[in-house]
Amino acid sequence: MSVEKKQLNFIEQIIESDLKSGKHKEIYTRFPPEPNGYLHIGHAKSICLNFGIGKKYKGKTNLRFDDTNPAREEIEYVESIKKDVKWLGFDWNEEVKFASDYFDILYEWALEFINKGLAYIDDQTAEEISATRGTPTRPGKKSPFINRSIEENLDLFIRMKNGEFKDGEKVLRAKIGMDSPNMHMRDPVMYRIKHTEHHRTGNKWCIYPMYDFTHGQSDYIEGITHSICTLEFENHRPLYDWFIDKIYDKKLTRPRQIEFARLNLSYTIMSKRKLAKLVEEKIVAGWDDPRMPTISGLRRRGYTPKSIRNFADKVGIAKRNNIIDVALLEYSIREDLNKTAQRVMTVIDPLKVTITNYPKDKSEMIEAVNNPEDESMGKRNVPFSRTIYIEKEDFREQANRKFYRLKPGKEVRLRYAYFIKCNEFIKNENGEVIELLCTYDPLSKGGKSPDGRKVKGTLHWVSVEHALNIEIRQYDRLFSIANPDGNKNKKFNEFINKDSLILLKNCKAEPFLSNAKDEDKFQFERKGYFCVDKDSTENNLILNRTVTLRDNWSKRKINFKKS
Ligand code: ATP
Ligand code: MG
Repeated sequence: MSVEKKQLNFIEQIIESDLKSGKHKEIYTRFPPEPNGYLHIGHAKSICLNFGIGKKYKGKTNLRFDDTNPAREEIEYVESIKKDVKWLGFDWNEEVKFASDYFDILYEWALEFINKGLAYIDDQTAEEISATRGTPTRPGKKSPFINRSIEENLDLFIRMKNGEFKDGEKVLRAKIGMDSPNMHMRDPVMYRIKHTEHHRTGNKWCIYPMYDFTHGQSDYIEGITHSICTLEFENHRPLYDWFIDKIYDKKLTRPRQIEFARLNLSYTIMSKRKLAKLVEEKIVAGWDDPRMPTISGLRRRGYTPKSIRNFADKVGIAKRNNIIDVALLEYSIREDLNKTAQRVMTVIDPLKVTITNYPKDKSEMIEAVNNPEDESMGKRNVPFSRTIYIEKEDFREQANRKFYRLKPGKEVRLRYAYFIKCNEFIKNENGEVIELLCTYDPLSKGGKSPDGRKVKGTLHWVSVEHALNIEIRQYDRLFSIANPDGNKNKKFNEFINKDSLILLKNCKAEPFLSNAKDEDKFQFERKGYFCVDKDSTENNLILNRTVTLRDNWSKRKINFKKS
């Protein structure tokens, strides 16, 4: 990764030029989620962008819930979103805002549109309206209700508000025309009837403004200078402009909408609707399942706020849609944890080793480095004794010369401890190796060669009598293909990676881990980064695998660095 000073992205360029020209004295942005699900890494990108700009230019950033659809929205989501924004390290200006705070003024504006002859009540059904919209190349049909008088429209709108009609019986539409090549401009619906309780306004309203009649005006009400949004809103911009034009007061700030490409990640899906499906169908354990690309899932997986902010930074701001390799996200967490994570030794798939020439009742403390990247993290003592565990995969009965780990007659280094040599192995009735008999060289203490003889392999280990039993949830990518959403004939849930969660209940850790708390992060030597899961109890410590030490998914040949 380059360390040169980064160039301004195109949004920062616009902002700097607006500050320079005096168009704005203070920059004001917002992050406007709809509270209908948990936030995902795509939202994190938008959060980092909007709040990041607020911070960088010493401006302000609102958190505003665009809660115009009472049916789909829940307090649970509002709370989770606030928590996620805070966790990412950002703070909003003043109180949290809600589009529903503006229902009164939006209603007043709707009356103003009607009074100016710019909106009418349509009795057509939703199906009729959609059937008469036309296509981008063919104009739509005018509504048979378009010529209602202003008085009649006002009367009907007020009666809509008073609850005299049923859901879907009438809507308020903007009177723009049915022939724009932009479908959003064809007499779009401004208000619909919904006899549904709203999570904040209760039963005050039975008509609700459409998102398109709310979003742009909410920015305008709040004095947002730069309304940053994703590319799919480019086509909505002329409509937002049309609405604001009609109510614009020159003394107030007029927001400028700027679109950027939404974040897409490989091996992931990124729409709240589809993520909700994974939860509903119990393919994952919940919104915060560590395999989910949600912020709460990433957090539980062991991602740090910093790693996500760095990732957002590395991805940059693009004007065209693209897919970012999830390996970049994984790189970001490795980069962060490499500098900060406490190292410990943990054996995931234990094989017993007896060191036959080590005294039976002896044990000793071996000094180990807590983090070779950060001397200030100090050292710790790891108990060593006559029987230890190593990983099953670190022994092979038969192996070629390139296998530097343990095999009969060969010597390896136990990390920080001694050289050991395998003399014999014991098998059970199924022919599986269940124990190794080794001897150690007392002169190799600290893992240093006593006479210049070299050993290539270094293994991690845990003393049997001191071992802590832990459970490991070995997570991997949720999907087995890069673009699970890109197949026309198959649904994304047909590409679930069957090995995305492997439960391992019989893992052994050095006693250092007994003090671990919720969300503590570790590097298990040679194995990867892990963090304590909230399901842990006093007697059952559970660790989630955040990421392996190296990218096992890439096809590149990997050279394992000797430790
Ligand atoms: P989804 O399609 O996943 O349901 P959404 O766009 O409907 O997402 P909102 O709650 O409306 O979700 O989004 C809040 C803000 O986050 C919007 O400004 C939106 O543009 C932005 N956002 C959503 N998804 C992404 C993404 N993948 N990359 C960048 N920004 C995103
Ligand atoms: Mg949306």
